[in-house]
Amino acid sequence: MPTANRIESGRLSKTEVDENFSDLHPPLTRSAALIEADRCYFCYDAPCIEACPTGIDIPAFIQKIRSDNLRGSAHTILSENIMGGMCARVCPTEILCEEACVRNTHEEKPVEIGLLQRYATDPVFEQNSQLFERAAATGKKVAIVGGGPAGLSCAHRLASLGHDVVIYNRDNKPGGLNEYGIAAYKTVDDFAQTEVDYILAIGGIELRNDSRLDADTDLADLCETHDAVFLGVGLANSNELGIDGEDLPGVLNATDYIAELRQAGDKSQLPVGRNVVVIGGGMTAIDIAVQSKRLGAEQVHMVYRRGPEQMSASVFEQALAQTSGVVIHHWASPARIVGNDHVSGVEFSIADSNDGLRLDADVVFKAIGQNMDNGGFGKLEMQSGRFIVDENQRTSMSGVWAGGDCVVGGDDLTVSAVQHGKLAAIDIDRQLRGA
Ligand SMILES: Cc1cc2nc3c(=O)[nH]c(=O)nc-3n(C[C@H](O)[C@H](O)[C@H](O)COP(=O)(O)OP(=O)(O)OC[C@H]3O[C@@H](n4cnc5c(N)ncnc54)[C@H](O)[C@@H]3O)c2cc1C
Ligand code: SF4
Repeated sequence: MPTANRIESGRLSKTEVDENFSDLHPPLTRSAALIEADRCYFCYDAPCIEACPTGIDIPAFIQKIRSDNLRGSAHTILSENIMGGMCARVCPTEILCEEACVRNTHEEKPVEIGLLQRYATDPVFEQNSQLFERAAATGKKVAIVGGGPAGLSCAHRLASLGHDVVIYNRDNKPGGLNEYGIAAYKTVDDFAQTEVDYILAIGGIELRNDSRLDADTDLADLCETHDAVFLGVGLANSNELGIDGEDLPGVLNATDYIAELRQAGDKSQLPVGRNVVVIGGGMTAIDIAVQSKRLGAEQVHMVYRRGPEQMSASVFEQALAQTSGVVIHHWASPARIVGNDHVSGVEFSIADSNDGLRLDADVVFKAIGQNMDNGGFGKLEMQSGRFIVDENQRTSMSGVWAGGDCVVGGDDLTVSAVQHGKLAAIDIDRQLRGA
């Protein structure tokens, strides 16, 4: 059979696919949440707070769960991290707050902080109860480029401080990678848009979708017509492998396919390869590998050029791939993609060895990182294709702040993008008030 014909939709029934894409970490019941909350020691100088990039007062919100004060608990969470609902679903807590939890040393099992955070915040979104009010209007107007976690977090904090905000967003929907990137089983039931609606409901934020701004001219215009500018444009383009055969049909960018998957009404109708090869070792590689398997691919091989310790995907993510049936290969670099009118395989060279590895493939996903759309904005100083910012998210240009994946020094996590947006908003507010 020609390789292209091995790419088919309907490999699994809709019911099977729906089951495979159900909530990865289902929410806690009330009794389970109360039992889990009771496991917290309410540590003085709690290390979990230090390990949270947004500095949420974790013991305080857990204490409020114990007294059934979920609204107060959600307020503690969302006042530091307005995307505390999404972060409860997608944060790699095993390398953040839960890794730091002192319960690890006593029982080798941390308090399930992520699940408790979801338990506390879910009712706020279900009932759409606003916990925040706008301060008196300041008459200042801020432009935000990018409607992802960084831009939305910045917008919400600025709006709550009384400033008017306009978000220019390239995509058709807001949310950035929360809407188009995160694995579908981590954020079910259109939660990304529910959260965006909640954020925008504070008022004072005008959202302009399908508005892609360009470097140089647009930034200069924004600076003239607004009191401050925040850039949260993320990293939209996928890195190239730079090897023969890369242009063959069937060789795809993982992020493009994931975006299609996230927007699909019926996932069982997506075209899926029989033999899928994923090149990369990060979260995107894991996500495309696991999701391909869950869509019905027979063989999924994920190949990384270094060892398991160097993978940016956490140990939990790696285990998730393996238990989902993905075969992970280490120390193998892609040398050549082969095929005639369609990809049929990939040849790899093995580190410190004369041996090679050849894998059959009718689909190859490239997942070796992203870079910035159009290479940057204006004359801002950059390093390795990202904006250089100081500790207040200020760029090299006066009046322009930046945050999220598009700045140097980030860890490419939703929670960090939210923190950058928040820090920038606090600094912009300080500057606009002349404090
Ligand atoms: C496949 C994948 C899975 C991931 N899974 C996780 C996970 O499980 N947990 C986790 O914590 N992190 C995860 N991440 C990382 C996380 O999604 C990002 O760190 C986070 O979304 C960064 O937010 P951001 O606002 O900087 O950028 P983005 O989310 O990329 O948003 C950028 C926004 O800017 C807009 N934009 C871009 N260029 C322009 C322009 N020129 N003009 C106007 N608007 C523009 C876009 O439309 C978009 O809305 C994942 C990333 C990927 C790719
Ligand atoms: S480190 Fe663990 S036990 Fe201590 S306050 Fe944080 S969640 Fe509770």
